[in-house]
Amino acid sequence: MRRARTPMIGAVADDLTGATDLALTLSRGGTLSRGGMRVRQVVGVPDDTTVLAGADAMVVALKSRTIAAAEAMSQSVAAAERLLDAGAQQLVFKYCSTFDSTDDGNIGPVIEALLELLGEDRTIACPAFPTNARTVYKGHLFVGDALLSDSDMKDHPLTPMRDANLVRVLQRQTRLPVSLIDIATVRNGADALRDAFHRTRGIAVVDALEESDLHAIGEAARDLKLVTGGSGVAIGLPRNFALNPARDAAASARLPEGRAIVLAGSCSETTRRQVAAALGSGMPGFRVDPLALADGKVRPRDAVKFARDAAPHAVPLVYASDRPDAVRSVQEKLGRERAGALVEDFLSETAAGLAEGGFDRIMVAGGESSGAVIGRLGITALDVGSEIDPGVPWMLTSRNGRPMALALKSGNFGADDIFMSAWDKLK
Ligand code: ADP
Repeated sequence: MRRARTPMIGAVADDLTGATDLALTLSRGGTLSRGGMRVRQVVGVPDDTTVLAGADAMVVALKSRTIAAAEAMSQSVAAAERLLDAGAQQLVFKYCSTFDSTDDGNIGPVIEALLELLGEDRTIACPAFPTNARTVYKGHLFVGDALLSDSDMKDHPLTPMRDANLVRVLQRQTRLPVSLIDIATVRNGADALRDAFHRTRGIAVVDALEESDLHAIGEAARDLKLVTGGSGVAIGLPRNFALNPARDAAASARLPEGRAIVLAGSCSETTRRQVAAALGSGMPGFRVDPLALADGKVRPRDAVKFARDAAPHAVPLVYASDRPDAVRSVQEKLGRERAGALVEDFLSETAAGLAEGGFDRIMVAGGESSGAVIGRLGITALDVGSEIDPGVPWMLTSRNGRPMALALKSGNFGADDIFMSAWDKLK
């Protein structure tokens, strides 16, 4: 009997869109002739290892970015234990390429917990993702041409980032020593870099400016039991493993043919541009005001009706995305958490109503928002499908025996026209 594959790489992601981004990176990893990895993504800590069998890499998507640090640590450890039980030889802890976190965590505490589980005393931290203009230089994170602290991340509703020096940011979150491996060492060749990794005690923030730097980091990280970073840090990892040519899991999956909907809960500049482009192109839009949700003046069934009544071939857009000043004013009235929860509940109830009504192609903008929607739909396992934009794949799954496609987009990701262009890429 053929033995089921066991995963070589086991990853824990702190949010859902981050998990899909990483799953896409691993599935594209290696060279084309060698094939990438077969990647399965599960949502939440799986009950047992059966759902993990048959893939080269497994990504467990948590919703642990903004929960209490102790809870993030215990969930991450539980996920990692399941991945190790399933045979994973190397663990990846994936967080946002904009290092979304607060002084309480959760990046530092989760790294500590995973190192303790593995009995290891060192790892690296590299959120760089040059394809999406996230680079790390002398330990400072840049978003495009701006320091992280000057980017729109300074106004994020849940994790405002006001310091771009990642050594400093991470050191505030952990008792482990945090050091820097700078770009000169990264470009000194894989042996020098591997030596630098071996000398590290605690966590080394690693510079990377280009994709070739990430390949060098991946090669040098072969012996690290734990690698941490954005999805970019995984670019070079699949090549460290002997892969059979990947069977394209997505190729055999049935594609859904029902109606399409976009749900936007992200307030990032990128998503607001995407919303504006969609509305500008004539996409029917339903704007959600958190204050109206708090007053019970708008309910999910209103958005469901709006979408169902739209022309059959139109793609309706339901969005809460708003400018930083408007978000601040809502948060002052409702509290940051309540405002977030109201919008997330609204979008997920709307998704559930639409899924019952034949909407089986769903794009969600926003990490937390995507997590809420997937949770409400009860979806626990997805396979990577075709790529829409860097970091954003179609994910294929089934619900009540019917195929369903989901695009779960981190707020910051995607071209301005992604809400219109994504549907043609569902192949
Ligand atoms: P991103 O990927 O950009 O971080 P998320 O969905 O993870 O997006 O986070 C955005 C958060 O902001 C969510 O909790 C969402 O419910 C909340 N939110 C969305 N719209 C508003 C709004 N108009 N006012 C306040 N909070 C909002």
